[in-house]
Amino acid sequence: MEGEGAVEETAKTFQELGVTDVLCEVCDQLGWKTPTKIQVEAVPVALQGRDIIGLAETGSGKTGAFALPILQALLETPQRFFALVLTPTRELAFQISEQFEALGSSIGVQSAVIVGGIDMMAQSLALAKKPHVIIATPGRLIDHLENTKGFNLRALKYLVMDEADRILNMDFETEVDKILKVIPRDRKTFLFSATMTKKVQKLQRAALKDPVKCAVSTKYQTVEKLQQYYVFIPSKFKDSYLVYILNELAGNSFMIFCSTCNNTQRTALLLRNLGFTAIPLHGQMSQNKRLGSLNKFKAKTRSILLATDVASRGLDIPHVDVVVNFDIPTHSKDYIHRVGRTARAGRSGKSITFVTQYDVELFQRIEHLIGKKLPAFPTQEEEVMMLTERVAEAQRFARMELRQQGEKKKRSREEEKEEDDTEGAMGVRNKVAGGKRKKWKA
Ligand code: AMP
Repeated sequence: MEGEGAVEETAKTFQELGVTDVLCEVCDQLGWKTPTKIQVEAVPVALQGRDIIGLAETGSGKTGAFALPILQALLETPQRFFALVLTPTRELAFQISEQFEALGSSIGVQSAVIVGGIDMMAQSLALAKKPHVIIATPGRLIDHLENTKGFNLRALKYLVMDEADRILNMDFETEVDKILKVIPRDRKTFLFSATMTKKVQKLQRAALKDPVKCAVSTKYQTVEKLQQYYVFIPSKFKDSYLVYILNELAGNSFMIFCSTCNNTQRTALLLRNLGFTAIPLHGQMSQNKRLGSLNKFKAKTRSILLATDVASRGLDIPHVDVVVNFDIPTHSKDYIHRVGRTARAGRSGKSITFVTQYDVELFQRIEHLIGKKLPAFPTQEEEVMMLTERVAEAQRFARMELRQQGEKKKRSREEEKEEDDTEGAMGVRNKVAGGKRKKWKA
């Protein structure tokens, strides 16, 4: 059986699902030969005008499953501010927007991405152009609904809530409620979620009308083409084992998961000091830096992406050959999401989970969840030990660089504060736009 995260081709054609010729052509141009399972289930139902509750993961082709019916409806009755897609993270928003652009640009569909961490002004201008489709994270959308003149969603026809379980887990519940209050009741709603939690059920009752359930993902199953391993090692040799594995599997692309932003940054610096093309992606980086990292990785100019769990779900990274759980996930479900980054679209992949003396219980929980015992990844201890000296030196450098980066950040924060004070003394405080400062010191 197919597991999560794999685009599986089916025997049907897009035409048979009721997709109009122009859009069938676009799919063909994108290399989408046949619809995926979730598309086979959801597209015909959506085209009939029904609400949908879709249980599917990223990688299943679910974006196409909601984008195609929306674009087809838009072709029939063109209208500005036609559809809103709510999504939990900025990265996911950009990915969805890429698919809307790819599918919709030849028919002149315009979309806008409204997410935090990006200039409000630029977004207001994008909204002033009245795009057909908005892809947004809830918080920033509310900001615009409340503060951007002339912008409202009173004519909206389609609402998509993508990765609803994550939207709700990220405490966006209030924002979602607010949004539901300012859009028409008479609309079509598609709710997609990887898991059916209580919160999602509640949202379903509040937002959907007589929905049809379309489910394709088998819960907690990992893909067959995924070879999963563990390495049992002393905690103090983690870095050396990581370097050993990267050398052993050289030529592959890697995604390495760490538990904290700090460890992600540290490990990236460590690997760079050892000559690897490693790049970090975590929540303490600015939005531009995160997008930059992701693009460099996608463009294959970097072969190792180090990430926290922020990045473990929802990202469309097609060519990860190996997932390394450098820090074991504390929530076993995150394991499934992490390893779901490889062995996608029918390709094979590997995952290697580092298990130290402190992680045994967590590892057992993972094995229990996926219902199988994993084999050990073969390693040569003597070879690993030969690396320890070089690794120790790189660790020292990495620590130093991390300290320097921390100090630089602190300095720039202090400089900013000094500037604030000087501006205050010069009496320009009222001219500062956007209400950036919270409270003015007397
Ligand atoms: P998603 O699950 O929407 O994130 O899609 C995962 C990947 O599958 C994206 O890169 C899509 O471009 C691709 N995809 C979506 N539908 C199809 C299809 N019918 N055939 C082949 N690839 C597809």
